[in-house]
Amino acid sequence: MGGGVRERKKPIFRDIRRYDCEYCGTCRSKKALLTSHLLSCHQDEMEKQRAVEDAIHLSNMTKSLA
Ligand SMILES: [Zn+2]
Repeated sequence: MGGGVRERKKPIFRDIRRYDCEYCGTCRSKKALLTSHLLSCHQDEMEKQRAVEDAIHLSNMTKSLA
């Protein structure tokens, strides 16, 4: 044995971050994905907090940076 076949681990990105949903704890790797999750799953909660506009603004910012 000992084929020496090893899976190459992906390099750790410097800016890798995790965005956790503050409502249900769901984890997303990108703020845009978390924002999408928030809009689809927690829009009611967000509306209560008047955070929808901020989320959309952040989403647009993330898209422009991508
Ligand atoms: Zn959630």
